[in-house]
Amino acid sequence: MTGQAATEMTPEPALHQALEQLAATPRLLVALDFDGTLAPLVDEPMAARMVPAARTALQGLAAMPCTWVALVSGRSLSDLRIIAEHRDDSPIMLAGSHGAEFWTPADGLIEPAEDRDDLALRDRLRADAEEATRGLVGVLIEPKTFGFGVHTRKAAADVAQTANDAVDALVSSRAPHWRRRTGHSIVEYAFRDEGKDTGIARLRERTHADAVIFAGDDITDEDALRSLQPADVGVRVGTGHATAAGVIVPDIASLAAFLGRLRTLRLRESGIDCGHA
Ligand SMILES: [Mg+2]
Repeated sequence: MTGQAATEMTPEPALHQALEQLAATPRLLVALDFDGTLAPLVDEPMAARMVPAARTALQGLAAMPCTWVALVSGRSLSDLRIIAEHRDDSPIMLAGSHGAEFWTPADGLIEPAEDRDDLALRDRLRADAEEATRGLVGVLIEPKTFGFGVHTRKAAADVAQTANDAVDALVSSRAPHWRRRTGHSIVEYAFRDEGKDTGIARLRERTHADAVIFAGDDITDEDALRSLQPADVGVRVGTGHATAAGVIVPDIASLAAFLGRLRTLRLRESGIDCGHA
């Protein structure tokens, strides 16, 4: 169920087939983007929260044997923990900054190695980006662990363009080696270039998963969707986009329902033997 280029929602028989395949997987990793996938996009980034149906499905899956749940987000890990209302006793694994930072129940926060020069440049460029966009209404600079993001969701189109041009010029002259990513009303700049494909690969290794389901709604999620293997299932939330996902659902509520059905089907699979890692 991967690698199909399609832009319309997946018909029910194919959805069901994907669910049956996942339900019968011995060791299953359920990896999910957060914003726009489990939580509606909002004007104030730190106000994002999962819809209740998604939260219930995730908690249910995380409590099942042989099943691991992870959030894989472009947010910094510290912000992700806040918006996901993630506590120290949670069984849910986290990959932040697209897969450059991790939190696991066994290890807690796994601190990434950081170079002081990179951090100093990050702080200077972020301050300069704030200066360059000062007075541009609706533009917000979001600090990130390995760089920063320029949010323009609340800005008029011409103002957004002015902000993006100014910061693009700043970063391309001072840090041309940084990775630039675009998303829904955000441009992000980072000195680390791990993508969500890296995040999924590390989580797969750690859980010894036989198959992965990954769902996301944005361009950066395509890195992960393209990296999936034949036994995996990729889900794109939102129709009308070119995607490497094999399954397309129209919205967050549909994904939550899909995850709820996965849990129900997996509960019925008696005798799953996932062995020992
Ligand atoms: Mg997203």
